[in-house]
Amino acid sequence: MYYSNINMNKINNINRRKFLELIGYCSCGFVINSCAVAPITERKQLKLLPEATLNRQAAEIYANVRTKAKLSKDKNQLKEIKQIGARIEKAVAMYFDSVGKPNPTAHFNWEYILIEDDKIKNAWCMPGGKIAVYTGILKVTKNKNGLAAVMGHEIAHAVAKHSIERASRALVLNVGTAAVDIFTGGAITNTSRATGVDVARMLRTFGIDNPFGRKQESEADYLGLIFSSLAGYDIRESVKLWERMKESFKGKEPPEWMSTHPSSDKRILTLKKWIPEIILSYPPIINIS
Ligand SMILES: [Zn+2]
Repeated sequence: MYYSNINMNKINNINRRKFLELIGYCSCGFVINSCAVAPITERKQLKLLPEATLNRQAAEIYANVRTKAKLSKDKNQLKEIKQIGARIEKAVAMYFDSVGKPNPTAHFNWEYILIEDDKIKNAWCMPGGKIAVYTGILKVTKNKNGLAAVMGHEIAHAVAKHSIERASRALVLNVGTAAVDIFTGGAITNTSRATGVDVARMLRTFGIDNPFGRKQESEADYLGLIFSSLAGYDIRESVKLWERMKESFKGKEPPEWMSTHPSSDKRILTLKKWIPEIILSYPPIINIS
């Protein structure tokens, strides 16, 4: 839709050529990265794109969102978001250090914004640790443990590099979408700078507001619980959070944040199953003051 005035065949050709170039001169990286596994769960992942490219593109878009979105003036709320984020950041780094594994967030440049929009019950984390929380979700999160559950989930998507996986799959399938183009030439950010495209459209283009696949969502739930627990939050609140989320959308279409599989009922059941094991295996790694 965004590219309605541009010849899609031309874009397809550009992508194909750039993809071949990428594979051509990054063959070492290609071999190593394509054998990647997700942290902790060790699920096999297809990763064909360099993290640095993705993070750079995400940072550009995030800067755009920051400028164009209506940011909340609630300094205390933003402070709480940043505190929760800082604890999760620290817990993730300390955990990987403690088990002698490379820290997946080593090249992250964490940032947090609170967007004023009470209708959007959502939050997201772009590659490289660029986080946004919408004021609408605060009514559902209710307390710091609830907010930590949401942030832990979003951060987990970034830690597990789910966006790299999605874009890699799109490349392999040779999908001529804007989501691919962004990784191959930055055309979107360049275009958005020129035309002043709106925030919602930018996020859609980047795929940030699309639900991730079932495996990735489930993995983000699992890793999110682990990171929140390591950071010292009460992860039992995640069950209450999902119950409140379900309640708040009674009879209405759920937001994209939760419109993916598994259903919220199944999600609650799975969380209940995981929580006792995670509390025992991943106790707080940092002190909560
Ligand atoms: Zn998710």
